[in-house]
Amino acid sequence: DPRIHDIKSKIRVVPNFPKPGIMFQDITTLLLDPKTFKNTVDLFVERYKNKNISVVAGIEARGFIFGPPIALAIGAKFVPLRKPRKLPGEVISEEYTLEYGRDCLEMHIGAVEPDERALVVDDLIATGGTLCAAMNLLERAGAEVVECACLIELPDLKGRDRLKGKPLYVLVESH
Ligand code: 5GP
Repeated sequence: DPRIHDIKSKIRVVPNFPKPGIMFQDITTLLLDPKTFKNTVDLFVERYKNKNISVVAGIEARGFIFGPPIALAIGAKFVPLRKPRKLPGEVISEEYTLEYGRDCLEMHIGAVEPDERALVVDDLIATGGTLCAAMNLLERAGAEVVECACLIELPDLKGRDRLKGKPLYVLVESH
């Protein structure tokens, strides 16, 4: 698919951000080209439109950029999974370790109902800790996680192996 090649070319790699030794994959440059941004969303929509998905869960912050347009296009609700103390209502929380540090994700109680079919969206999978925490939140609410979807996978970190056997779909790999 020629769209994939274009998407990869629009991701900027920033060495030593946010710390020495990290090669940061910056998706903000991809957003500057409306055609590329639309192609990115379209690739996910084509994959998920007839899969009976009722909830798209987006991970703060960059899952909030790609999750909502996918949700709108496939007729699903959007549920934000946020960093601690951002959501005003009652929440459930999951702690996790990430590439640099420890963190926590929260979801509003009542946002997802038992037996809903969920898609989890983020920009990038590194160690897989973030997606694993997101999946745990959805499963604790009784939802079925159908798949996780990211633009970028860092396959050398083997994050895919932490997703409890659930499928992961990515557009590009970065080594
Ligand atoms: P993991 O939990 O898989 O180790 O890390 C993934 C999370 O960290 C995602 O929420 C992702 O947005 C963020 N992240 C880690 N490294 C990068 C990177 O190089 N670029 C971007 N855009 N996000 C990253």
